[in-house]
Amino acid sequence: MHDIDHIYIDGAFRAPHGTDTMELIDPVDGRPAARVRLADATDTRAAIAAARRAFGAWSATTPAERIGWLERLQRAVAQAERELVATMIEEYGGAPATCVATARRAAESFGLAAALLRTFAFERTAGAARVFMTPVGVAGLITPWNATYGFVCSKLATALAAGCTAVIKPSELSARQAALLARVLHGAGLPPGLFNIVTGRGDEVGAEIVRHPDVAKISFTGSTAVGKAIMRGAADTMKRVTLELGGKSPTILLDDADFEAAMPLAVAAAVNNSGQACLAGTRLLVPAHRLDEAERLAAREMAALVVGDPRRPDTRIGPMVSARQYERVQGYIRQGLAEGARLLVGGPGKPAGLERGHFVRPTLFSGVRNDMTIAREEIFGPVLSMIAYRDDDEAVAIANDTVYGLQAYVFGADAPRAARVAARIEAGRVFVNGLYDVPEAPFGGFKQSGVGREFGSFGLESYLEPKTVAGA
Ligand code: NAD
Repeated sequence: MHDIDHIYIDGAFRAPHGTDTMELIDPVDGRPAARVRLADATDTRAAIAAARRAFGAWSATTPAERIGWLERLQRAVAQAERELVATMIEEYGGAPATCVATARRAAESFGLAAALLRTFAFERTAGAARVFMTPVGVAGLITPWNATYGFVCSKLATALAAGCTAVIKPSELSARQAALLARVLHGAGLPPGLFNIVTGRGDEVGAEIVRHPDVAKISFTGSTAVGKAIMRGAADTMKRVTLELGGKSPTILLDDADFEAAMPLAVAAAVNNSGQACLAGTRLLVPAHRLDEAERLAAREMAALVVGDPRRPDTRIGPMVSARQYERVQGYIRQGLAEGARLLVGGPGKPAGLERGHFVRPTLFSGVRNDMTIAREEIFGPVLSMIAYRDDDEAVAIANDTVYGLQAYVFGADAPRAARVAARIEAGRVFVNGLYDVPEAPFGGFKQSGVGREFGSFGLESYLEPKTVAGA
């Protein structure tokens, strides 16, 4: 049993003012794993005050100075990789490959921010005026539980690179990972107050960050419902908001695609991170005249997924993060059956031999219509819905018939045709004929998948205010 009883404010670890506690359950065996003492609004105000004090000096640093600090952070996180991975596997239950990738990306995000600073133009001209890209102020960084290190580090790296200071509110379900990350980041020896980590409930700590007049910007990753509440709350103090929200991403197999080659990628796109991924391609659109072949191949891939204890190196699908998330996924599987979808693989309940943890059976439905609940709502588990279409126009129409627009995938043999289809999809990112890692490219959603972009120069600009100076 781990006791998490410290938060990180002004460069020091301290007991929270908040006295509420929460028990975290081991997702693999359902036993109590950690007790967390949660931060409250008083702690949050102390963290904001520390970030505010630190902002003056930090915002006046040169990019070269900030590069030096970012590189120290990168080294600190990289050196802790093994411990970070082990803790993420234990607390979150993520498959080993996912946890390694997350920890590695967390370290790299500081390096990417440093690299960006080497070329980024903070001073520009526009006509007769000069334009100074000026740090916006204290940033509130609010993150979900499905890739804590990655979200916290990429947001923090960008905020610091811009000259902002930060108050970080990780998910309460990631309290152990957040506590470890705080210790690792502290090891880089940055001046106090530049970043503060207050783990507490969303409606307490998160709400205070959103409300507080000394926070100038919110960068939030999480559900669309909470994102909408944050946007409303941020309006009172006119905070800048970047919202990375949910998705219901389509994967289109065009009728000339090599299904044998595409299907392992299409299934991976749906179930990576045990399906607890915002960019999961959970609607698989296949041409009606090749539906039988697609069903056979998709069923083969889904049935072959190794579900189990994430401490085993070959596990692809770990448990859901919590009992609540398990129940949510079960509810959608039952709903799919009730609405008449055809079950090809998986179904309700737990896989044999894994009855104690929050494990679900990777589930494949076919005969799904795009108006069914399982095609409209984000499930956040390894559940894939196959939808048949007649021609490219209908495929695009179905792909776009969603309130979301985060990500899409297109597979086809004729590259120009696949590119034309990609161009018609309303999504922040489209991957054609592969799964790619493009951390310098903007990431974010169209429609209700969010507001703004993270990563690269687009992400950096979201922490900066353009300030025009004319006549001087
Ligand atoms: P969530 O929205 O419930 O919580 C996210 C964070 O917001 C947590 O830290 C939570 O404590 C906090 N929060 C909750 N209520 C709040 C409030 N009123 N004010 C301020 N903060 C509040 O999401 P989750 O369950 O942690 O994560 C799953 C969701 O995140 C999914 O919907 C998924 O699509 C989304 N997600 C999006 C991306 C992306 O980049 N687009 C990435 C990962 C996850």
